[in-house]
Amino acid sequence: MSISYEKLMTSIEETALIGGWWYDIASDNLEWTSALRAIYEVEQDYEPRIESAITFYNEAYAEQIKDALQLTVTTGKAYKIKASITTAKGNVKWVFASGMANYEGNRLTATYGVFQDITADVIRAENLIKTNDITQITLDSLVEGVVVINAAGKITKFNQASENIFKYHRRDIIGKPIEILMPEPHRNHHQAYLANYHETKVANIVGIGREVIGLKSDGTSFPMHISINSIDGPSGQGFVGTIRDLTEEKQIKTQLDRLSHYDNLTGLPNRVSLINYLQKADSTKVITLIAINLHDFKKINLAYDFAEGDVVLKALAQRLTDFTGLHHFAAKDIADRFWLVIDHSYIKDLENCIIELMSFLKQAINGDKNRRHHISICMGVASSQNNDMLSNLITRAETALFSAKQKGINEICYFENLLAEQIISKYQIETDLRVALGEQALECWLQPKVNQDFKTIAAEVLVRWKGKDGQYIPPDEFIHIAEKTGLIMPLGAYVANKTAQMLAQINKLKPDFTLAMNVSPIQFLQANFAPKLVACFDSHQANLANLTIEITETLLIGDVKIVTDTINELGRYGIRISIDDFGTGHSNLKRIIDMPIFELKIDKQFVNNCLIDKKSEHLLSAIVSMSKVMDYSIVAEGVESLEIAKHCINLGVDILQGYYFGKAEPYRSFVKKHVENVHAVELVSQ
Ligand code: C2E
Ligand code: CA
Ligand code: CA
Repeated sequence: MSISYEKLMTSIEETALIGGWWYDIASDNLEWTSALRAIYEVEQDYEPRIESAITFYNEAYAEQIKDALQLTVTTGKAYKIKASITTAKGNVKWVFASGMANYEGNRLTATYGVFQDITADVIRAENLIKTNDITQITLDSLVEGVVVINAAGKITKFNQASENIFKYHRRDIIGKPIEILMPEPHRNHHQAYLANYHETKVANIVGIGREVIGLKSDGTSFPMHISINSIDGPSGQGFVGTIRDLTEEKQIKTQLDRLSHYDNLTGLPNRVSLINYLQKADSTKVITLIAINLHDFKKINLAYDFAEGDVVLKALAQRLTDFTGLHHFAAKDIADRFWLVIDHSYIKDLENCIIELMSFLKQAINGDKNRRHHISICMGVASSQNNDMLSNLITRAETALFSAKQKGINEICYFENLLAEQIISKYQIETDLRVALGEQALECWLQPKVNQDFKTIAAEVLVRWKGKDGQYIPPDEFIHIAEKTGLIMPLGAYVANKTAQMLAQINKLKPDFTLAMNVSPIQFLQANFAPKLVACFDSHQANLANLTIEITETLLIGDVKIVTDTINELGRYGIRISIDDFGTGHSNLKRIIDMPIFELKIDKQFVNNCLIDKKSEHLLSAIVSMSKVMDYSIVAEGVESLEIAKHCINLGVDILQGYYFGKAEPYRSFVKKHVENVHAVELVSQ
């Protein structure tokens, strides 16, 4: 709530001796205005509860109020009860307590009410009794204003409540025409209405209540509820009007509306208002929603206090308001989340507009005591062009914001691009890979594996895809897509075929040379994986005993039976099983021990870091000592320097692989470099 608004409300309340309350049914939260606290004579930090509020009522009224309130909560029926209370300071006061229901759509969400201190009026009525004017006493004891007019339309009775409402003293108004209480244009037409009624006896207003505008002695008009009944008087037919001033009720309703639609701290519209705004937006126009988040806002609260955090949030809200002007719509959500709806009719270029917004918002903010806060911001942007998208624009902007936060600070992410980029590139890779497989655009490169004497005794087969532009696409970019789309099957078959071809050729030159081939879990778990592989190698007369299959630890947490059966079957042909990336997965050592595993390949992250990071070094040496006991062959992959190579050998690693000894390269050049008898190169075409 803005400061000026709050001031206005408080002064209205204080002048009229009126307080307001609001009870939120869902949260069981009761709020009192400060004027209400003053009536009850409780401290301003007093926290009201429904049960304790009832105890202020004097005995005769407590039950009545309780029942009425219960009825409002359950049925929405409004009440207005005159009652007496004993304040916190022990003073007895007379009040009018009212309760009404607040609906959101069809749902009753809260009750609220007005509480008026009428002690002075009651005392006055008591005094009047002493003067014996019973009619006047009766009229004055009514909460509603009562105005009686005679057949000529002149005022004959004007009760105490009417005096309060219209700000006239009885003695000044008795005998005056009723039109005096009506603003134009009603005033002009009233005589004609009255004449018509006397003639036809037909009137819209008699017998029913309605809301009209009244006029006070000071010329101000106000909303009031009036119900009129005709009476037969000594000089013909007159009318009794019962009047209720709706000013405060309306103001409090507006005020409470405001509370539920605006952010308390910054005065910006809240999330409810944002949703309303988006629901009412013109669905034929483009709308862009930006979710804005402060980075590390919590730090400000923690480093200083919440008041300092509030200063920052208010400053940011002010900047957003300045940026918004009359054209866009800014809102504040919970915590440090802000929203901005951009109306495209007022901007030329969305991207520019957002970049401007970013640089405007992220300027340092002056806090209390000359502190300066250098803030960082992330934004998620989502646009819509039709109704369907409008409904989940908030979710889209939030998704984009999430991506922006993942990227870092002062980042902007666009939902459309995000989604489109992901879908397009995945789809593109899938279709291109399909074509590449058909055109044999995949190549199998070899990376050397050396023994403790640094002699190349084996190689790992690593697939490469030559893109249309001649650039090689690394396997990390397409293997997972091949796995998801099933393309891993033809890809795996292609690699197996090439591996068999290469192994057969190399073994003619070096009979003990082995090749290691990566096999994805999807391939491995396929029925007939082993027989097919065996058939493929047989067709090239390749020695299966010189083949190593690299599988990952994840495979070992799956269905044990199938995995064990396949490993055993492969073992019968002399095929060796290597556990790749060892140390990164959820190793189940027990399972590894139970299976005929030949080799553990320690993941490159531990090898790379073994000289600089104690944890990696310990892990490396622990794995090596364990493997020695278990008789596994140990491979260290990712060896990038001589120091690391020596360190690994000192620990007892058997085989080394890494850039220090050579990157993966095409078959021809690999054989030239790493295998003797160079003429063998011609035998395999790539
Ligand atoms: P991987 O099996 O762990 O293969 C080792 C990766 O580490 C290779 O990347 C290799 O080039 C890289 N590397 C080797 N030495 C070093 C080094 O000293 N330092 C660093 N930083 N990296 C080194 P590449 O070729 O990009 O392969 C990535 C992954 O793609 C492989 O990881 C493997 O999981 C998968 N992959 C490759 N070829 C195939 C295949 O034919 N079939 C299947 N299913 N997956 C494959
Ligand atoms: Ca591997
Ligand atoms: Ca690896």
